[in-house]
Amino acid sequence: MTTGVETFEFQVEARQLLQLMIHSIYSNKDVFLRELISNASDALDRLRLESLRDENLQADTSDLHIAIEIDKESRTLTVRDNGIGMSHDGVVELIGTIANSGTATFLKELRESKDAAASADLIGQFGVGFYSSFMVADEVTMVTRHAGETQGTRWVSTGEGTYTIEPVDDAPQGTSVTLKLKPEDTEDHLYDYASPWKIREIIKQHSDFITWPIRMAAVQPPARPDASDEPDASEGSEEKAPELETVNSMKALWARPKDEVTEDEYHEFYKHISHDWNNPLETIRMQAEGTFEYQSLLFIPARAPQDLYMQDRKRGVQLYVKRVFIMDDCEALMPEYLRFVKGVVDAADLSLNVSRETLQQDRQIQLMRRRLVKKVLSTVKDIMSSDAERYATFWKEFGRVLKEGLLSDLENRDAILEVCSFASTHDAEQPTTLRGYTERMKEGQEHIYYMTGESRSIVESSPHMEAFRDKGFEVLVLTDPIDELWVDAVREFDGKQLRSIAKGQVDLDSTDEKDEEAEAEREQRKKDFAELLSWMTTTLSEQVKEVRLSSRLTTSPACIVGDTFDITPALANIYRSMGQELPETKRILELNPTHPLVSGLRKAHGERKDDSGLAETAELLYSMALLAEGGELSDPSRFIKLVAERVQQTL
Ligand code: ADP
Repeated sequence: MTTGVETFEFQVEARQLLQLMIHSIYSNKDVFLRELISNASDALDRLRLESLRDENLQADTSDLHIAIEIDKESRTLTVRDNGIGMSHDGVVELIGTIANSGTATFLKELRESKDAAASADLIGQFGVGFYSSFMVADEVTMVTRHAGETQGTRWVSTGEGTYTIEPVDDAPQGTSVTLKLKPEDTEDHLYDYASPWKIREIIKQHSDFITWPIRMAAVQPPARPDASDEPDASEGSEEKAPELETVNSMKALWARPKDEVTEDEYHEFYKHISHDWNNPLETIRMQAEGTFEYQSLLFIPARAPQDLYMQDRKRGVQLYVKRVFIMDDCEALMPEYLRFVKGVVDAADLSLNVSRETLQQDRQIQLMRRRLVKKVLSTVKDIMSSDAERYATFWKEFGRVLKEGLLSDLENRDAILEVCSFASTHDAEQPTTLRGYTERMKEGQEHIYYMTGESRSIVESSPHMEAFRDKGFEVLVLTDPIDELWVDAVREFDGKQLRSIAKGQVDLDSTDEKDEEAEAEREQRKKDFAELLSWMTTTLSEQVKEVRLSSRLTTSPACIVGDTFDITPALANIYRSMGQELPETKRILELNPTHPLVSGLRKAHGERKDDSGLAETAELLYSMALLAEGGELSDPSRFIKLVAERVQQTL
């Protein structure tokens, strides 16, 4: 047991965040109350759940509620709950540090963003919880006792670097947070948070749907005390005992008829469950009746959270059973690639004792998940066809994550492809959908062409692009690492094959009218170059598996291509970085027979077969092709030496 007062330092990130709150740049300070009430509500949810699971838990769950107390004299505001509470170590861990692994990134972005509006926006996106109290308070005191424990803990801080902790013997179950409010006349202080009217208004606006009663002293004594909705609160007959009343309507939004809920209410609810301070991009409601009844209220956020790519991310879709909170981030209900979706699913026929493991196996849950996924995808499709700007926002924030579904969700692959968009040579700014691409396909064009690469500029300037540009064929420019993976798995869209322009034989000529003269010319070329090609194939056997003539080049002398089903070097790198061993895959060097360097080499080779300089030229051709596609040379110094020698000869 701990005794006496201990002083702790906040962890670095926590300190920085607190500084931000104290010198708050966030204009809507009212949200501090929503955050405290949200935490209190979560604590009540967790206590109820815990008591369902553990019969021996020593906790009183008979009147779970939140109470708000205001003392105008001392300018304090207290938010109290009789929920799960925190232990001594819990306080140090949960309040003294910030577990969110996105914090460092967030703080860095914040430091870099110079304009105040952008910073406020970032904070909103990050959603600072308990610490937001320091926007309105000079000092915060928290007294908490974990359900089942006897001793409580008092935590006090001004938010300036340190906090103190001491044991409390008579702490009630749950948590109370008392704010010593900043003086009212602070410049930007628009409202007085010591005013019961103001507090009520904030609760109505931001926390009305909280399913636990939020009680406050009645502002005006009711005319008939016995008509109060809290009969037990009016028991005390001393004059001073305040009449308590419940301020919020407590109605679960997802259970209310659709047309009765306003958009604002949905948005407030979204902020409560997501801890995002901004409005969502889209609200999705679903109800299913019949044998397996459930209601769901889902949201697509407007911004990707900082921790979208982190392992320890929490808060996706919450599972409720008949209004009782069961779990956060219920992965059985939403696949990984839709992890940005937030919300609530309330199922009527599940046991309150379900565990994550049994949920994964549950057939009804699986059916539910299928329907939810289809609904989310069809909603995205609706956004896409009705509001280009909103769709663009969606895609910018979540496109990369959604594309993961092309690999993992075979059942919905077509539906996902349908709502994907990609950069393309058609337009330098606007990405295109596959549907848009196929609609623009030229006459005689059979396939959907794409090229993967590290950046748009590398892809666009790569030699592979030449003949396609010449023909006016559109090429998708795929530069996300995930693109390398899915293009390998997805072979077609709407009956059209997806073809890499850097792989396989390209026979764009087939689209021209077959002209006999050209055909004859090609045949002649093949004969003319046969000797050079077989010599080069031998000379470069370390580097490539074949040297052949190309029909994809117009201006470059050479390029390197893969076989149709070969793995690309980038994909090979991805696998290797994941620790997989892969054999080296050799690719193919293609030569442009009309390029003077290539025709010159053929001539020279015809005349002086054993000139060692020719082998070096072959090697240079290969290296140049490698550089042109953004590849790395295995021996750059040798390349430089060879080039230098040749440049020297021209002087
Ligand atoms: P967040 O709620 O975003 O996780 P907070 O800083 O608001 O971040 O709270 C940190 C953690 O402290 C919560 O996740 C919760 O575990 C704990 N906590 C906060 N308030 C309460 C409370 N009233 N009762 C119990 N635990 C709480």
